[in-house]
Amino acid sequence: MRHDEKAGANPAAITRDWCVEQDQTDPLADFRDAFLIPDGVIYLDGNSLGAMANAAPGHAARVVEREWGADLIRSWNNAGWFDLPTSLGDTLAPLIGADAGEVVVTDSVSVNLFKLLWAAADMRPGRRKIILEGSNFPTDNYVAQGVAAARGLEVVLVERDAIADAIDADTLAICITHVHYKTGHINDMAALTARAHAAGALAIWDLCHSAGALPVDLNGCDVDFAVGCTYKYLNGGPGSPAFLFVPRRHIATARQPITGWWGHNAPFAFDKGYTPAPDIRQFLTGTQPIVSLSLVGVGLDLMRAADMARVRAKSIALTETFIALVEQRCAGHGFTLASPRNVDERGSQVSFAHADGYAIMRALIDRGVIGDFRAPDIVRFGFTPLYVRFADVWDAVDVLAEVMDSGAWRDARYAEREAVT
Ligand SMILES: *Cc1c(COP(=O)(O)O)cnc(C)c1O
Repeated sequence: MRHDEKAGANPAAITRDWCVEQDQTDPLADFRDAFLIPDGVIYLDGNSLGAMANAAPGHAARVVEREWGADLIRSWNNAGWFDLPTSLGDTLAPLIGADAGEVVVTDSVSVNLFKLLWAAADMRPGRRKIILEGSNFPTDNYVAQGVAAARGLEVVLVERDAIADAIDADTLAICITHVHYKTGHINDMAALTARAHAAGALAIWDLCHSAGALPVDLNGCDVDFAVGCTYKYLNGGPGSPAFLFVPRRHIATARQPITGWWGHNAPFAFDKGYTPAPDIRQFLTGTQPIVSLSLVGVGLDLMRAADMARVRAKSIALTETFIALVEQRCAGHGFTLASPRNVDERGSQVSFAHADGYAIMRALIDRGVIGDFRAPDIVRFGFTPLYVRFADVWDAVDVLAEVMDSGAWRDARYAEREAVT
């Protein structure tokens, strides 16, 4: 039996044997061998930094030693360096419901969002409001504040249930993160986009926690612009460049403001004046970090080989199993589910609120169970279906139960805060 046939239908009391059985019939099981998961580590943080593909070091060595070292500047043409932002964009496009020619991989999420918010403001002159979720990952809101300050606009921060009602005739765009970084709550892309359009506003979506984690259908939802990162569920490597999406219908009209030579119609004509490229290349700005960018392809190739419906089915089964086990084995230890209980509203992560969450997560990491902590009180566990097993879920909760039952998390050294949590 496959997971997609019984997602959510776990037996009342889950055993480790049951978990092992799930792994034996998992249609995605072989993908784990494509990643390096260190011995003794249960990696539940792929929603923050995806694991390394085993093909990555060889690929990086080839780019550095052969393409850079031996072929030098000829690699801009011969190794496809110059076209990487668009060729990778075309590879990524089907994973997010976009067409070829609508996606580029470039720059950071923050910078790409600046470009698109600026373009959106030009497309809706006279309108003043940009609506975002107040509890969103802060960089999106900070960038919106920067654009608003430069353009005399207003940032409106509301929480998820108030987004639809906040959209009015003065709204130029909503800028919403598809899956909430802290809770894993899925925002309804189709409904909110339709609501924005009904009011004449644009809909911009941030896919940082959904690209590679669940099916995304940007064109099916008629989305206007989107951004997302490649170093989380797409396994592109630390700090790998982000992506941006502009649908074909907006490419001729949308204009991004960071008008560098890579966005020029003819970069090597070295013209005095700026003429935007007539295609998605207009959304590029300058020279890209080729070594890092080329590694994005390694992660994307693996993701493209996986069936996204199966990825979603396993993701649901993993998170259901984790929630059931934590509630089965850690009852009375003060954990409150901070993610939606309804699987249809939950992304590929599970968060629990706990007053001592920071120390508890430190104790878990010390024992090889790597999740993360988000202030003020959220312990967050990401479940990446390509390399997390059901037995890992069992073993992780086993360690959590031991840390709670023994009080090991109270050790003074777990109270000191590190720079990156
Ligand atoms: C991870 C994440 C980012 C990252 O932005 P960068 O500019 O690439 O650092 C932005 N927004 C959200 C919602 C994220 O989860």
